[in-house]
Amino acid sequence: MLRSCRTVLVACVVACAAFGENVDAIYTARYVVTMDPSRRLIDNGAVAVRGERIAAVGPRAEIDRQYQARQRFDRPDAILMPGLINTHAHAAMSLLRGIADDLTLQDWLEHYIFPAEAKNVSPDFVVWGTRLACLEMMLSGTTTYVDMYYFEDRVAQATKEAGMRGVLGETIIGFPVPDAKTPAESLAFTERFIQQYKNDPLVVPAVAPHALYTNNDSDLRACRRLANKYGVPLVIHLSETKRENDDTRGKRGMSPTQVLDIIGVLDGPTIAAHGVWLDDRDIALLKQHGTGIAHCPSSNMKLASGVAPVLKLLAAGVPTGLGTDGPAGSNNDFDLMEEMNLASDLQKVTSGDPRALPAMQAIEMATILGARVAGLEKEIGSLETGKRADFITLRLDQPHAVPMYNVYSQIVYALKGSDVQDVTVNGKPIVRDGKSLTLNAAQIMDKAREYRAKVSASLPR
Ligand SMILES: [Zn+2]
Repeated sequence: MLRSCRTVLVACVVACAAFGENVDAIYTARYVVTMDPSRRLIDNGAVAVRGERIAAVGPRAEIDRQYQARQRFDRPDAILMPGLINTHAHAAMSLLRGIADDLTLQDWLEHYIFPAEAKNVSPDFVVWGTRLACLEMMLSGTTTYVDMYYFEDRVAQATKEAGMRGVLGETIIGFPVPDAKTPAESLAFTERFIQQYKNDPLVVPAVAPHALYTNNDSDLRACRRLANKYGVPLVIHLSETKRENDDTRGKRGMSPTQVLDIIGVLDGPTIAAHGVWLDDRDIALLKQHGTGIAHCPSSNMKLASGVAPVLKLLAAGVPTGLGTDGPAGSNNDFDLMEEMNLASDLQKVTSGDPRALPAMQAIEMATILGARVAGLEKEIGSLETGKRADFITLRLDQPHAVPMYNVYSQIVYALKGSDVQDVTVNGKPIVRDGKSLTLNAAQIMDKAREYRAKVSASLPR
């Protein structure tokens, strides 16, 4: 018996030496964009995956020499890069996509969004809306998103079904909403939600007070206390509109950021969406607290909110990622490839400098900086040994993809969300050849059309 064991062991050692160390999968691509600290770009590169994590990244020849994979995926005409991180979304609002456009914020909210939400938002609505959003996000290269909505346990359920990663927070707001009559109810829900998902491999629970102007100070303080009790991030809207800033200054003599600072809301990991109307003092405060900003160029343009001081934020070292917001009128889609392009162009046109926010910086915002905003930079955002295996491939066989002189420029200025070919999250493939492996696309789209009829019928005439 002893002898036969030894024989097996010797055989294994010989085999391992001949074929390399075992991994679950090897992915190869014409270009591997790592976004690691040295921003290594590998020609004919490969990523080896073991379980949920990246075992190695390097030139294909080297990885093939060192590792023996159970499965391999070769993409000789594609870019392999970290999965995109959407730092601000309201996924389930996908079912209200395009419900009303080209209106003032007040008109849009009071005559369309609030009545539609009051009559339609239910656990079923949230599950199907999140499925639709996850389907769209994964097919356009997003692997992680930050969400704030209602029935967030259903958002978590649909996100896990999709196989995506989510930082998810139940909206806490100072008036009755579809799943809570008071902020206290939402806070209690949030605490149960955090306890349920604290150690989940895909879902990071968060505390999500809607904004300074929709919550009182004591509820906001309670949100921070709850977030810090469990070491989870706080998600909030901040300085989205000029009116919000003017009102706060009028009432309290300070900017919204200064108020959040004084009442202690920024004392811990925070993801603040928009930050359009930040001044230099606000930016210094955000830097001091390590607050992350979710910049949403489509939404800010479509709602005419203004232009966020992204160049100043980045120069100051404030983690700044990209978000889609919406999509019920503030954007209408979840395409982060488009946000990269718009973020860059928006800073160029408003600064009058075509060198502003170059392609590399836009990709940083969609990957490694987005990971910092979400508080997940040790786990995702770049392709490095030991990090979670979250990555995508972009095909290069379409007319708009050739010729290619610079990989980073091509990604930001030429490629589209529809060029996404494969998506892997946490080591598991969820998109192959542009098709979802985890969600039933036809069924989800049918359901969305059904909801359209229901929502339309519920709107005031
Ligand atoms: Zn929002």
